[in-house]
Amino acid sequence: MTKRKSGTRKKKKISKLLAVQCSQCSTCCRVPVALATHHDINRLVKATGLEAGKIVSLYANVDADDDDRFLIRTSYGKRTMGLRKVKGRCMFLSDDQSCSVYNSRPMSCRMFPLQVTLEEDNSLHDLNVQDSAHDDFSCRYRFGRSRSLKEIHRIAVSDFLEQDSYLKKVAEWNARSQKGKKQELLEFLDCDGLP
Ligand code: SF4
Ligand code: SF4
Repeated sequence: MTKRKSGTRKKKKISKLLAVQCSQCSTCCRVPVALATHHDINRLVKATGLEAGKIVSLYANVDADDDDRFLIRTSYGKRTMGLRKVKGRCMFLSDDQSCSVYNSRPMSCRMFPLQVTLEEDNSLHDLNVQDSAHDDFSCRYRFGRSRSLKEIHRIAVSDFLEQDSYLKKVAEWNARSQKGKKQELLEFLDCDGLP
């Protein structure tokens, strides 16, 4: 049976979710792969001075919310681009479990665990918590001080626009007859900090 959510109930739910706060358990920096676009890479290159190739890896069998558009055809098979892991943790996760690139972290990290759905005109459609999408870990968020909906919406729109331009580039790359490796892909994506 299909139900329509009443405007009041939706407003109440959104207002409750604005108080979702990260407890800094660091699970999402260890278990999944943090997806990264070329925009994310360029910000990280600028912030860290590292080469783009040292920041990202191409992973096989990554669940990008079942979205095939993230799959990149390389000369060694289909891959998804994400932040490099060292000993099973994001390379930017510090020993004290904090993010060492917090102000330059990828959009996917900025949004998690919130998930914003946008309308065609980029106005806000809905706000949810997206931990149920991952079977292998659960986010240990807590409720605290409310964040501004305007700020969350602003980040969501930037995230969408950057992701959209990245997915267009990936589609363009995948349409080429000649497949390549990571370095060629990063060059194609115009990533900064290439050797
Ligand atoms: S960039 Fe920071 S927030 Fe994102 S996965 Fe790595 S350590 Fe975690
Ligand atoms: S899993 Fe949730 S609570 Fe833990 S660090 Fe990530 S966002 Fe924060």
